[in-house]
Amino acid sequence: MTRKATLFALLLGTACASPAPVTVHTVPRAAPAPAVSTPPPVTAAEQGPFQPNAYLRACYGIRVSNSPLVDEEGWVRNYKPIVMVNGVPLAAAPANDVCLTSGFGQRFGRRHDGIDLQSRPAGTIYAAAPGRVIEARVSTGYGNMVLIDHGKGVYTRYAHLAYIQPGVQKGEKIGFGQPVGFMGSSGNATAVHIHYEILTGNYNNPRGSKGLSPRDPFSFPPYEYAQAY
Ligand SMILES: [Zn+2]
Repeated sequence: MTRKATLFALLLGTACASPAPVTVHTVPRAAPAPAVSTPPPVTAAEQGPFQPNAYLRACYGIRVSNSPLVDEEGWVRNYKPIVMVNGVPLAAAPANDVCLTSGFGQRFGRRHDGIDLQSRPAGTIYAAAPGRVIEARVSTGYGNMVLIDHGKGVYTRYAHLAYIQPGVQKGEKIGFGQPVGFMGSSGNATAVHIHYEILTGNYNNPRGSKGLSPRDPFSFPPYEYAQAY
């Protein structure tokens, strides 16, 4: 007998035993176990649905520039899905089921200030940590772009979005894992992907985000639950 059939028989039994109307509650499905321990929720803004993947691999069939070390199957060695940046737990990749197309660093004679990730089909991009939106606009190079201030001199940028999530506006609070937009190819992009930056410094400088220091997302220590308490 299947599990479904057992439940049905039980419900019938209940109905026969009692003349009162039977309220059938939907049996809640067991929530899938989170892939990794996500940062604790903050009261400032509600946590979103994002659960980071535990692993990240290089994309098939392309040469990944500035690739971190990968194993023989292409998985990034020692990948840390949540990293600690100046005491802020931050997702190292802000989307699910993506692969890496480009790492951080010098590339074609220019510095690549972030990492490039893609999924097929394109998917939702999420806030890597709770914070406040300080830029949500169209930029010539970055296209539809969101910049979030996470406090402690830590910022993240999400670029080339197909669109910015409605309600994600300058000055608004945002929770960990809330959608910031959708993967796209707006601005100076040759393919649908997300360009993701982790930046440190102080935004309140004459050059704004250009005065911040881009950091390699793969260079930070892992988030440990105990560190948050
Ligand atoms: Zn990029």
